[in-house]
Amino acid sequence: HEIVFQVNHLKKYFPVYGGFFKKEIASVKALDDVSLSIRKGETLGIVGESGCGKTTLGKNLLMLEKPSDGEILYNDQGVLKDITKMNKEDLFQFRKQVQMVFQDPYSSLNPVKKIYNAFEEPLKAHGFHKREEREEIMKKMMEMVNLQPDYIYRYPHEFSGGQRQRICIARALCINPSVVICDEPVSALDVSIQAQVLNLMKEIQHKMNLSYVFIAHDLSVVEYMSDRIVVMYLGKVMEIATSDELSKRPLHPYTEALLSAVPIPKIGEKRKRIVLEGDVPSPIHKPSGCPFHNRCRKCMEICRNEEPVLKDVGNNHLVYCHLYDGKEAVNE
Ligand code: SF4
Repeated sequence: HEIVFQVNHLKKYFPVYGGFFKKEIASVKALDDVSLSIRKGETLGIVGESGCGKTTLGKNLLMLEKPSDGEILYNDQGVLKDITKMNKEDLFQFRKQVQMVFQDPYSSLNPVKKIYNAFEEPLKAHGFHKREEREEIMKKMMEMVNLQPDYIYRYPHEFSGGQRQRICIARALCINPSVVICDEPVSALDVSIQAQVLNLMKEIQHKMNLSYVFIAHDLSVVEYMSDRIVVMYLGKVMEIATSDELSKRPLHPYTEALLSAVPIPKIGEKRKRIVLEGDVPSPIHKPSGCPFHNRCRKCMEICRNEEPVLKDVGNNHLVYCHLYDGKEAVNE
């Protein structure tokens, strides 16, 4: 599989200021040594509770935020380029190929501007100077998301939430990107509309041969959309596997707990529910050792003191947990 993104040891720290002199007293490690790859034409799901770093990861992939350390290699026609080191011009060209769809279709569209104007900016910026040409592209994109072409002359308030999100998707696609980063694209929508938008996204992906990075807190939605899934917790990757493998053989205790809340497809039954005790710890005061240890029902002595490593357990399945990294022996 051709790789479109290769992320190596990505870190994003936010300083925390405090005290009388407002000095830096700590830092929040929103991304703490994240490595992963995104392949051409696939959907890579990123799942985790709020504060796990998934949104920060999405923003870093687009360089909307600059990472503190690590590299993000993007495959630009066969050449891997580190976007964290790109100059303005190269970043501009890169952004033509990678677009983002955000959670809230209500605030993503300016209420006083017609849909036409919302589309116009990216098209103008990327060299479509003739109005007729821009209109033609916009209309084609509206059809792609099953909306009438002349809706581009209407205002956002004339559309429902689902329609607005489809318009945002159309806008992201109008400059023909190869990757779309979708951050909770359906979580603001009615459950009855969610499936419609997700199916449309799948359809478009095949038509345009797109890669998706699909970020969400809801594992059932991520499972439905993704070829492979990355489970994150407190800025770290806990597990990476194909969607199928992860639902059949979840190895990490955190993934097990997330999965236990997802109904089993077809039967509609739930798996045996594992209730997670306690809250996600504050990212400023991360637990020592394994970051999940204060909520883990399989916690061992070693987990409190030593960090696990992300280990390849075969079948493209990676897991970050002492149960699988061969270190239990140290404990005995
Ligand atoms: Fe649980 Fe230990 Fe594995 Fe962390 S390393 S998930 S605490 S068993």
